[in-house]
Amino acid sequence: MAAYDYDLFVIGAGSGGVRAARLAAMTGARVGVAEEHRVGGTCVIRGCVPKKFMVYASEVSQQLKVAEGYGWSHAEHSFDWARFIADKDKEIARLSGIYVTNLQNAGAEMVHAKARLKDAHTVELVDKDQEVTAEKILIATGGRPWKPADVEGIEHAIVSDDAFHLERLPKSIVIAGGGYIAVEFAGIFNGLGVETTLVHRGPNILRGFDDNVRAHLAEEMEKRGIKVILGCQHKAIEKTADGYVSRMSSGADIPSELVMFAVGREPYVEGLGLESAGVELDETGAVKVDAYSKTTASNIWAVGDVTNRINLTPVAIREGAAFAETVFRDNPTSFDHEMVAAAVFSQPPIGTVGLTEADARHACRKVDIYLSKFRPMKTTFYGGDERCLIKLVVNGETDQLLGCHVVGPDAPEIIQMAAIALKMGVTKTQWDSTCAVHPTLAEELVTMREKYLPPELGAVA
Ligand code: NDP
Repeated sequence: MAAYDYDLFVIGAGSGGVRAARLAAMTGARVGVAEEHRVGGTCVIRGCVPKKFMVYASEVSQQLKVAEGYGWSHAEHSFDWARFIADKDKEIARLSGIYVTNLQNAGAEMVHAKARLKDAHTVELVDKDQEVTAEKILIATGGRPWKPADVEGIEHAIVSDDAFHLERLPKSIVIAGGGYIAVEFAGIFNGLGVETTLVHRGPNILRGFDDNVRAHLAEEMEKRGIKVILGCQHKAIEKTADGYVSRMSSGADIPSELVMFAVGREPYVEGLGLESAGVELDETGAVKVDAYSKTTASNIWAVGDVTNRINLTPVAIREGAAFAETVFRDNPTSFDHEMVAAAVFSQPPIGTVGLTEADARHACRKVDIYLSKFRPMKTTFYGGDERCLIKLVVNGETDQLLGCHVVGPDAPEIIQMAAIALKMGVTKTQWDSTCAVHPTLAEELVTMREKYLPPELGAVA
C-alpha cells in the first residue's frame, strides 16, 4: 500500500498549478489538485483573459472614429455593458470548463476546497473535514490585489477583481496606480466612454519600463482623453451623494462615481499553513524558491506569482512545466527568466523585451540607441495624431541587441517575434540584414540605421 494518498498534491488550479499537475499526472503519478475558487486562476477568471475581452470591447470606440476617417458613416452607437458582461462570463465559464476537462483527461483529481498545510506531507481540506497526504506538494496559489490600509475610506475603492463584475458602467472613475493594471483599465474605461482619471504617485507611469516608452504612453493616453495626474496619491476617499471624492496629497479633490485601486498584487499565502511545513517566505512575503522552484522544505515546490519572480502567466506555465520535468521525469530543468517579453494592453499597447536604455547604460560601457516616433500610415490617412514609438537598445561594443520596445497597434504581436531573435542573441547587423515587410508598422524595426541621441546631446548621431 502506498505511503501517501498522492504522489503530488497541487494547491491552486491556475496557470502554473494546472500545467504542473497535468504534466505530472501524464507520467502516471497520482495527482490531486485543490482549488478554493474557480479552476483557471487569475489569468482565466479575473485577469488576462476577461481583461483582453474588455480591451477588445473598449477599442471599438476608437475603431468607429477611424471608420469615419475612412469614409464610413454610421448611425448612433450604444454599448450594452450588461450584455457584454453576461457574454464574457459565459466564455470564461467555457474556458474554466476546458481546464477542468484537461485535468481530468490527464488523470488528476480535483478537489474544490481551500487547502492548508498541517505538516510537510499533510494537507487539510478546510471546510471539508478531511485530510490528505502527499509525498510531494506544489504551491501555486498566485497573488491577490492589495489596498493600502493607511488611506482613509479605502473600503470604498474597488480592485481589479471587482471591475469584472460591475453592475453598470460608472460615468467617471479615478484609478490609483501607475502599473500594468492601472494603465490597462484606464484604457478600458476611457474607451467605453467613462470619464477617466489616472493618479500615480511617481514622476511617470510604468516604473521599470523604458523611459521613452513611459513618457510616450502617458502622452498617447492623454491624447485619447485620459487625465493622467502624476506625483500625488490618495489621502482619503469620501462618500458623497453621487459617488466619491478622492482627497489627494497635492490638495486636489477629485470627484468620481467610482474609485479603483490598482497599486500592485501580493503573493497569496494567507492561511496556507506554510510555517507548519517549514516553507519560508522572502522579504516581499513571497515563497522563497531556488532555480528549480524548490522551497525551503525538501518535498515542497512553488511556482507562479506566489514566488514573485516574473508575475506573468506564461512564466508560471513554464515554471510549472520545469517543475514537472525535474521532479517527475528526473530531468533537472530550470526556467530561464532572462529575455522574457511582456505586453501591456494599454491603449495604445506596449510590447517590450530585454533591457531598457537605463539598464543597458548601467550594464554596458557603450550603448547605442535607435529610436523612431511616427504616425502610422493608417492614422495619417484620416489626419489623426496618434504616434507609434519603436526603440532598439544595442550594446555598442558587441553589436548585440539588448532591448526592443514598441508602443503602437499590434505591439504585443510584434514583440513575440522580436523576442525570438533577442533570445538567440541577435546582433544589430543581423537584425538589419532582415528584409522589411511593406507596408507595415513593424518594418520600421529593421530600417533604423541612424543612432539616436537625446535632444540635449544633439539630435541624431
Ligand atoms: P504593478 O506592480 O505593475 O504596479 C503597481 C503600481 O502601484 C505602481 O505604479 C506603484 O508605484 C503603485 N503603488 C504601489 N504602492 C502604492 C501605494 N501605496 N500608493 C499608491 N501607489 C502605489 O502592479 P499591478 O497591480 O498593476 O499589476 C501586478 C502585476 O500583475 C504586474 O506587475 C504584472 O506582473 C502582472 N500583470 C501583467 C499584465 C500583462 O501581462 N499585461 C496585466 C496585469 C497585471 P511605484 O511605481 O511608485 O512603485
